[in-house]
Amino acid sequence: MNKEGPNSTDIKSVKGERDYSNYFDFSSAKVVKEQSGATTYRIGGRDITINSAPSYQDEKRRGKEGVQVHYDFNIPEEMHQFGRGKHYMIRTYGCQMNEHDTETMKGMLEQMGYTATEDKNEADIILLNTCAIRENAEDKVFGELGHLKPLKTLKPSLLLGVCGCMPQEETVVNKILQKYPYVDLIFGTHNIHRLPKLIKEAYLSKEMVVEVWSKEGDIVENLPKKREGLKAWVNIMYGCDKFCTYCIVPYTRGKERSRRPEDVLTEVRELARQGFKEVTLLGQNVNAYGKDFEELNYTLGDLLDDIRKIDIPRVRFTTSHPRDFDDRLIEVLAKRGNLVEHIHLPVQSGNNEILKRMSRKYTRESYLELVSKIKKAIPEVVLTTDIIVGFPGETEEQFQDTLSLVREVGFESAFTFIYSPRAGTPAASMEDNVPEETKKMRLIQLNETVNEFSRRSNEALKGSVVEVLVEGQSKTNPEFLSGRTRTNKLVHFAGPAHLTGSFVHVRITEPQTWALKGEIVRMDETVVV
Ligand code: SF4
Repeated sequence: MNKEGPNSTDIKSVKGERDYSNYFDFSSAKVVKEQSGATTYRIGGRDITINSAPSYQDEKRRGKEGVQVHYDFNIPEEMHQFGRGKHYMIRTYGCQMNEHDTETMKGMLEQMGYTATEDKNEADIILLNTCAIRENAEDKVFGELGHLKPLKTLKPSLLLGVCGCMPQEETVVNKILQKYPYVDLIFGTHNIHRLPKLIKEAYLSKEMVVEVWSKEGDIVENLPKKREGLKAWVNIMYGCDKFCTYCIVPYTRGKERSRRPEDVLTEVRELARQGFKEVTLLGQNVNAYGKDFEELNYTLGDLLDDIRKIDIPRVRFTTSHPRDFDDRLIEVLAKRGNLVEHIHLPVQSGNNEILKRMSRKYTRESYLELVSKIKKAIPEVVLTTDIIVGFPGETEEQFQDTLSLVREVGFESAFTFIYSPRAGTPAASMEDNVPEETKKMRLIQLNETVNEFSRRSNEALKGSVVEVLVEGQSKTNPEFLSGRTRTNKLVHFAGPAHLTGSFVHVRITEPQTWALKGEIVRMDETVVV
């Protein structure tokens, strides 16, 4: 565990980069006590205990030490009843990884006796599980902290915590310390398993407790999880070593480290036993799965080949990096079965110069070659992607390369974003010289192109019969049910609510741009995959 004090960061300001060295310089703050590596300061009348502070420099480091896998997690005896009669609420921002971390925190809180609530006035503990990927995601969290201030003033016993990716940033923790002193607990992505102990520390001390680890990361197994619904997420690996120049994730989530195959397979088997209909294997760069095993030659393709034999109807994985997408994986995906025909393959740009400056480590040509191999092996595959427009220096011509790549691949949907700099990333020191108006125009043009392909591919499905996993009543019309195809397309159709959780066959009658309408032709008791 990192027990470095708040002045331990020693990043030197490099050209164009923000100087982080002052962020934890509380030399003028009063030290109240120093104990077991933690320092308690008094800042603006609030006592703040810093067990360990985020360190941009440590987060960037990739050393040679092996990954430790811990199997000894347990909730301390004295915390088993700590939440009895109390309620918790967790607000989750960002990606599936955060959603899954929230499931873990819910699992721990419920083992401590807490009950979930959606009413913040009823909550005794509120945690904001945050996302650092874009500035507006962070602004939402600061806005929410502002909204919670009156509640905290009215109910001082409320424990207010900020966790997830944002606390891994020095700037964020410094801002909370200075501007939101009523926050009680700050912790990051590496020490979620410490939640019971941190809650105890914050409650008993009445101080703000800050514990953010900036280590490369270990793996903690056997954490409780509260899963709901038909679909489950399963982490297969953590962290990222790709360091794309615009991305904060390698700093907030540590190095690439894979869970042992036997641990993943045991978890998936247990989910199948519990009746889950779909699992999504999660990781920031799932295609790098297994590359960190020293004594084992076992990749994502091997893992999927083993999961294919487990009786769970659908298996997905996200997110892929084209660089690590290998032939073995394509060969296994082509066996189909419960491995669905949908691949999310972020491309980010269709221009080689931009890809180079993004440090994506592939070219337009190699990406297209990969797509062609995938399509050859799985002709009915649906490809979706992520694209950034307005990366520093992106010319109109370079943007047109992205549009032409979108047309060439025929992506059926895409998460499209306007570039915004993240402090601490290399791209933040590049000149952000594409005018805002141009970025917006490019985004509109890109979305129109993607929508055109989405509509076209949906229209091609008219009259065909697709297998749909029924997820529940439609949000807009209770007489309709909604569900997803194997290729992750949204389908609406009339049907009784009791079909939720089953597989039905639906004939597509009315294709739209983002969804399909149809009618049930067959209800399956069991699914043949
Ligand atoms: S591979 Fe994904 S998570 Fe990793 S640095 Fe690149 S964009 Fe970020």
